[in-house]
Amino acid sequence: MQLYNSLSHKKEDFIPRFEGKVSMYTCGPTVYHFAHIGNLRSYIMEDILEKYLRFTGLDVKRVMNITDVGHLTSDGDTGDDKMLKGAKREHKTVMEIAEFYTNAFFNDCKKLNIKTPDVVVPATSYIDEFIKVISSLLEKGYAYQAGGNIYFDTSKLDKYYVFNDFKEEDLAVGVRDGVENDEYKRNKADFVLWFTRSKFDDQELKWDSPWGVGYPGWHIECSCISMKNLGEYLDLHCGGIDNAFPHHTNEIAQSEAYLGHEWCNYWFHVHHLNTNSGKMSKSSGEFLTVSLLEEKGYLPVVYRFFCLLSHYRKSLVFSWENLDNAVVSYNKLIAKIAPLTKEQGGDIDKVEYDRLMKLFTDALDNDLNTSLAITALYDVLKSGANAAVKLALIKEFDKVLGLDLIENAAKAAESEDNTDDIPEDVMALVEERKAARKDKNFALADEIRAKIEALGYEVKETRQGTVLTKK
Ligand code: AMP
Ligand code: ZN
Repeated sequence: MQLYNSLSHKKEDFIPRFEGKVSMYTCGPTVYHFAHIGNLRSYIMEDILEKYLRFTGLDVKRVMNITDVGHLTSDGDTGDDKMLKGAKREHKTVMEIAEFYTNAFFNDCKKLNIKTPDVVVPATSYIDEFIKVISSLLEKGYAYQAGGNIYFDTSKLDKYYVFNDFKEEDLAVGVRDGVENDEYKRNKADFVLWFTRSKFDDQELKWDSPWGVGYPGWHIECSCISMKNLGEYLDLHCGGIDNAFPHHTNEIAQSEAYLGHEWCNYWFHVHHLNTNSGKMSKSSGEFLTVSLLEEKGYLPVVYRFFCLLSHYRKSLVFSWENLDNAVVSYNKLIAKIAPLTKEQGGDIDKVEYDRLMKLFTDALDNDLNTSLAITALYDVLKSGANAAVKLALIKEFDKVLGLDLIENAAKAAESEDNTDDIPEDVMALVEERKAARKDKNFALADEIRAKIEALGYEVKETRQGTVLTKK
């Protein structure tokens, strides 16, 4: 498989260090608010990557942190602790907020068919590990204590800006977020490993350390959680593109300084989901959640489908119109698969199966080209293969795509069968109601709905169309 590596700035063959096994690390959510559908774009694409690696026969171990301390509003060392901000907003404790939003995150993941990583670690459960690594960085001369905090000394590295070519003078005039004038920093790019000179007197979570009572910086958590669970060599590290700097840059700096050798070979960055007014972000307060999509009648899996239609290395603009277009395509796809679910067996033509499978694997082998993989799905449906071949392929593809294709197609086929049993007078009313809604005559539509209910049926409008059920 070829994968774009942010470290080398090019597509490369993905070759894990130990044959057949992949160690994979993902930056988890900061649990001070609901994940928005932008965050979830990153997790959907990372899920596809993990599932595809497994699909090709690799044994993947995937680890993710939960950020419940230390992530400041700037992504650097300035601003408030996001967790504290969440707790104040909701008049709860930080740990209550963390628990609530961690559960909410995994609920959203479940609805989007995102697999839970093999190991999930909240940062607050690894304080001893952070202290161990920070102590070692101090001993090795990569860190220093100043004004109470412990800083990483970026001047000790041959190369610090591994992903971006920032210039020292740009940083000096403070054109970027996350660069502050901290009088204790020896170099502008240095970052905090451990805070004791807390800027936040009301910081709720603090731990004892050799340097005084305090709390860890955000970056150290991912290095430590990864190294502890996946060892000193990491194959693949993922995150949204905003994580590349400063978060991942700092992770590399401190991990390699601690280990004394190179750490992670491949860096996978998902580009942003934007709205017309810019990047979707939790801090702006204006963001869309999976629950909101559901309230509006969208199946969460359709949002997954929407994401798969674009390449992960291109930013994606969200609009309701774009999502509605995805609904139409998804429904058409399901309608095409539906009749296959009712067909019986047939022999598998191996040559045809392999030919069509290759279209799918070629697409994903090419830097995870999910939209081409969806095209391969259409190619299967258009092909002259029999139902057995088609169904077998769709089942296999969906192990990676996670679009509930067979389940939803079977449901669609079943509801079509059920429609056959619905009395003609009810069906006629359903059609009349559709026409009334089309004319925006909602009063009439409501009247007809009451008539349908009186006949023992319930009618509901969803983005997937009109759903009629027996009461
Ligand atoms: P956070 O909860 O802020 O720590 O972010 C969780 C993940 O979502 C990180 O990998 C971010 O890089 C990613 N992310 C944040 N905003 C977006 C966005 N608008 N589109 C895609 N990914 C994002
Ligand atoms: Zn991280």
